[in-house]
Amino acid sequence: MDYPQFKYHPNAYRLDLFENQIGRCSICNQQHDLKYIGCFYSVDEPDYICP
Ligand SMILES: [Zn+2]
Repeated sequence: MDYPQFKYHPNAYRLDLFENQIGRCSICNQQHDLKYIGCFYSVDEPDYICP
């Protein structure tokens, strides 16, 4: 799967911001294999956020 490149964060995938874990994204409701594990500010508490 192609994931987005972050213009202002070009090394995002080389830092410990994502982990290989299969799951359904709480935001877009699609199946993914890469889970965002960095900090995130939100009113809700999503279980799984894809890139
Ligand atoms: Zn998503």
